Parts: sequence; C-alpha cells; structure tokens
Amino acid sequence: EARNLVKEYRVGSAFGGGRTVFALSGVDLAVKPGETLAVVGESGCGKSTLARCLTGLHEPTSGHVLLDGADAQALLSSDAGRFRRAVQIVFQDPYASLNPRRTIGQSIGDGLRLHKLCARSERRARVGELLSRVGLSDDHIDRYPHELSGGQRQRVAIARALAVSPRLIVCDEPVSALDVSVQAQIINLLNDLQEQSGVAYVFISHNLALVRHISDRIAVMYLGQIVEIGDAAALGQTLVHPYSRALFSASPEIGRDRALARAKPLEGDVPSPLDPPSGCRFHTRCPFAQERCTTEMPSLRQVAGREVRCHRAEEMAGTQLAA
Ligand code: SF4
Ligand code: MG
Repeated sequence: EARNLVKEYRVGSAFGGGRTVFALSGVDLAVKPGETLAVVGESGCGKSTLARCLTGLHEPTSGHVLLDGADAQALLSSDAGRFRRAVQIVFQDPYASLNPRRTIGQSIGDGLRLHKLCARSERRARVGELLSRVGLSDDHIDRYPHELSGGQRQRVAIARALAVSPRLIVCDEPVSALDVSVQAQIINLLNDLQEQSGVAYVFISHNLALVRHISDRIAVMYLGQIVEIGDAAALGQTLVHPYSRALFSASPEIGRDRALARAKPLEGDVPSPLDPPSGCRFHTRCPFAQERCTTEMPSLRQVAGREVRCHRAEEMAGTQLAA
C-alpha cells in the first residue's frame, strides 16, 4: 500500500544551487492479494519512481509504503529479508539487471541463498525447477546472460523474482524492450504464473491496449499524481479524465468509444517535473480548463464508477452519456 507517497529529489548543478524534481506528489494506492494493478502514463510521469518506492529501492521523501500495515522503511532496517521476500521487481531491460559475469544459475540462486530458502545441495535442482516454470530448461543454468535472447533474459529475471515466492512483483515496463511476438509470450507467462501462485503484480506500462487485457485495475498517472483509477472493465469502456482521454484517443481498441473518438490528441510537451503547474497539473494542456483549474488542485473523487482528479469530472462523465 502507498499512502500519500511523495518523492522529491535534488538534481545538482555543477555551479551549485540544485533544483528539485517533483517525481511523486501524493500517491495513494493499495494492491490486493493476487490482483494486477496497471499503472499507465507517459514517460516522466513518475511510474518508475513509484515502482522503485514500492519495492524499497527508493526511500520516499514523505508518506509511506506499507506491507500488511507495517512501514517498509522500518521493515527494511529491522527485517529487510521479510520485505525483500514479499516484494520483488522485474525491470524493463533484463540485460542491465542481470550481472553479466554470473551464470543464470548463480543469478537465480542468489535469492535462495540469501534467504536460506533451501539447502545448498538442493539449490541447483530448485533453480532447474524455477527455469522450467518460466519455460526454460536446465541447459540454461551454466550459461551467461549474453548467450540468451532478450525474451529468455526476461524469463530469467522473472524466475529470479519468483525464487523467493513473493506476494507482489512490480513489473516496470517488462515487455517494452522486446519484439511484439515475444511480448505476448512473456505476458502469457506472467498470467500463468499468477494463476499458479496467486502473486500480485503492479504492472507499469505506457500501453493501455495491452494492460486492459491483463489488469484487474488501472491507474493513469500524470506528473507525479494519479488522475484516474478504477476497474479495468470500467476504464476499458471509457475514460473520464481529460488527460486519460487525450492520451488514449489514438488507441485503436478503445477508439469505438465516442467520447474518446472526439477527444483531441495531446498538444504540447509534458511540463517539467522541476516546475509542475499550479492548480490542476494538467491545466496547461487541458481543452476544458477553467479559471479555478489554474489555482485549485483537484482531489481524487468517485465519479462514474472510478476515481477521477478533475474539477469537471461529472461534466466529463456526462459527455459520454450525451454522445
Ligand atoms: Fe482540465 Fe480543469 Fe479537469 Fe484539470 S481540473 S483536467 S484543467 S478541467
Ligand atoms: Mg520508466
């Protein structure tokens, strides 16, 4: 669970006087056991920072990450093993996350060794089992990452995460570096593994068409905030927030929705997270912005069966009824 999660960091300048990046500005979410929660948005919206905070790789500036109600930072300093066994991460680029000088067997076996999950004599057999669960064979145990394809490396990264039987795996764009045909295989694998083990996923992506098939819930982020969150079934039908609509207006699968079909694609660049706009962070690009949008930050509110961060959410939801 993330509670009012804030992450700001200083970027230095060689001439002194660094500036602050507002990467996450008050993110609340809770992941239920066994579910897939997708987090979608453009690059720079804070998705990867969220992934790193949820997995304890970044310490939040304020707010909390909780595991069964216990604060992650406190757990990491008192009982890091408990947190690391529960929460794992799979990165976009498995080549960067696997040590090139360690064999596949060593990389996967590390978690088993660190957390003393099996006797040393059994480790090789356990690694073999994990490889078969991700569709690879024993033959890969003594190979090095550079001897594998991108898809195989991502299978190894998934096996490494699975080794400690986590309850949550945060997948940060796990297929976006792979060929389209391989993407489908990895998605199917993640689905099968979830059915077998009941592991929950936070699935970070920029691809709504992809996540609506594999997610139970979807959160849309813009400049460090969730702007729309709800059941995948509801968001797959239509989107309410002007940003979500614009971002996905070009998405062929939901283009049948008339409100989306009428939405104009986004214009202008994402404002810098060094200097996020006042009021509603989307007001500089929003075709529906009014005076109050420039000064008053909207809160997330229940509208049309989901939560939306927009002063005009009811009107926006109404436009689909009138269409
Ligand atoms: Fe647009 Fe205002 Fe809604 Fe922000 S609050 S999305 S600027 S209408
Ligand atoms: Mg990213």
